[in-house]
Amino acid sequence: MAERHLEAPAGPQSRAPFEPSRFVGRRYGRIDGWDPVNTPMIRQWCEAMGVRNPVYTDESFARRSVHGGLVAPPTMLQVWLLAGLNGALPPGSATESIRELIDALAEAGYPAIVAVNSEQHYQRYLRPGDRIHRTSSIESIVGEKRTALGTGFFVTELIEFFDNDRLPVGTMRFRLFVYRPHAASADASQPAAPAQTSDDKPAYATVPKPSISQDTAFFWEGLARGELLIQQCEACDALRHPPGPACPHCHSLDWRTVRASGLGAVHACVVVHHPKVAPFEDARPIALIDLDEGVRLVARQAGNDTRAVRIGERVRIECVDVDATLSLPVFRVIES
Ligand code: ZN
Repeated sequence: MAERHLEAPAGPQSRAPFEPSRFVGRRYGRIDGWDPVNTPMIRQWCEAMGVRNPVYTDESFARRSVHGGLVAPPTMLQVWLLAGLNGALPPGSATESIRELIDALAEAGYPAIVAVNSEQHYQRYLRPGDRIHRTSSIESIVGEKRTALGTGFFVTELIEFFDNDRLPVGTMRFRLFVYRPHAASADASQPAAPAQTSDDKPAYATVPKPSISQDTAFFWEGLARGELLIQQCEACDALRHPPGPACPHCHSLDWRTVRASGLGAVHACVVVHHPKVAPFEDARPIALIDLDEGVRLVARQAGNDTRAVRIGERVRIECVDVDATLSLPVFRVIES
């Protein structure tokens, strides 16, 4: 029988206040890794991270080292216990998790989350063949705190890692800020983080806002006036985009801006069909544009045009007002 929910969702005034003490100290059970510590994963991780220490990848070097054999980079600790891309954990893993706290906070009116920091400590090197598992607990909840993002709670989860003999191999503290964002219109730099509800539908979703800093403000202010501005080094005249504090060529910190023509050509293009991410539910192309001035810019296709574009196709950049505080660059194919 289908369930129906007829009550309107509770407004902020009718919510019960969040009680951190209900959750602090709560422990969550064992989660196993899909695979033992293994050399193919170590090699690929080192390649991706640019780690060249041969003690992780060169068997004969490692044998002669203080370790007497290959070891895994300590900072891979968390890697061995990550769920796959589909989020599935190995059979038998605990089903309760810190998710219940996140859900309770969303229910109490704190739907957004940002990761704050993470600290790891290592008790011993892991070796190929080690099978590790983890348990976790909510170590602390601090708040309510007011920050530039919004008002909420700092949550620290302590994750403890063990080997097959149940001996500790390391710990990780993972800190989150779970918050109620300031009103979106009041702060253009606030990212909109859609909260997930139990049926996986975002509780709310607005266009995510770019993070605007002193280094990038000129670009967004230019767009609001209908101008596409590019940063130019005062010392060597090199153009650069995206904006940054220093010239990547000569490292000068002095810069000016030049107004771009807005004309360019498609360098690369992607159309995201899946997964759909609210509020971007249409499959509108996103392209990397080679501006005629010689820098590249990322933009969505203008309007409701969802035709795929071709590499090399000529385009014009336009500015579109998302709301009173934000304009974004979009591209439109120049019909020949
Ligand atoms: Zn320069």
